[in-house]
Amino acid sequence: MRVDLRKDFEANPLTTNEALGILDMDEGRLTELLDAAYVLRRKYKGNTVGVQLLTNGRSGNCSQDCAYCAQSHESKSDIETYRLVPYEKLSRDGQAVKEKNLARHCIGLSGIRFSDAEIDEFAAHVRNLKKESGTHICCSIGFLSPSQAKALKDAGVNRINHNLNTSRNYYPHICTTHSYAERLANIRMLQGMGFEICSGGIVGLGETKADVADMFLDLREINPQSVPVNFLLPLKGTALEGADTSALTPEYCLKVLCLARLMLPKSDIRCAAGREVYLEGREKDMFKAVDSIFASGYLTAGGLGIDDTITIITDAGFEYRQE
Ligand code: SF4
Repeated sequence: MRVDLRKDFEANPLTTNEALGILDMDEGRLTELLDAAYVLRRKYKGNTVGVQLLTNGRSGNCSQDCAYCAQSHESKSDIETYRLVPYEKLSRDGQAVKEKNLARHCIGLSGIRFSDAEIDEFAAHVRNLKKESGTHICCSIGFLSPSQAKALKDAGVNRINHNLNTSRNYYPHICTTHSYAERLANIRMLQGMGFEICSGGIVGLGETKADVADMFLDLREINPQSVPVNFLLPLKGTALEGADTSALTPEYCLKVLCLARLMLPKSDIRCAAGREVYLEGREKDMFKAVDSIFASGYLTAGGLGIDDTITIITDAGFEYRQE
């Protein structure tokens, strides 16, 4: 379907067919698409780009079987494993976030369920971090009970990441140990408790374009404050180690990011894992849709350091958003 890129995407939100039409769009219209995304990006985010730092708070030994993840017990990846990161490491990262005026300190913990004692131990770390660095803190921390979520909120976590990862239909192909519906329910519970939500997905898992469109339609319903869009890094030792990523051309990745902006004009659209691989050299275009990126890697995959990340923002003609 041919999408009218001059339409008012806020007054007339994209339909399912139009979302698919964006992903199928002829590459000759890419500049026009980027310009349409940029109108909304500039309206809500100016020309600024926020930078997040991600600390791996608990690594490996996860009971779940997410096919892309090096931390699954099914993965043969050679990664460091630990139950809870030493506070010194969290503190060092918190200081870096503060000193460089980064937007947010994100902490990812492997696993899907936590005991109350584990949550209390982690909440104590968060409390110390808030005292020391005072940065915004977001956690990625599986499924929480309401009382566990409250303990984290009281400690100073104001945003929680819980990705949809892919469409409802495709979810059983990437994970069999928990369901898409459980993910949605967790997000809704957290929203009901007043948390800001960070929720996005991974493109390149073997899904169809219709799956990508469906995922963004569901994300639009959730309306998260922040939407991380990852492009699959087929990590050695994971079930998707040999995945074919030839569809992840820079042009396709840019179309996905534009779709995210057109669907969720006011959210932070974050180009997360895969940025350095699939979009290197296309940052000027990428930032027409994207206003947020990570520095220093993605849990078990490396990435560009903080200073180099700030440099690519300014070299692309955008402003590094100091928080
Ligand atoms: S993505 Fe999360 S839940 Fe899935 S295997 Fe990795 S750490 Fe576990």
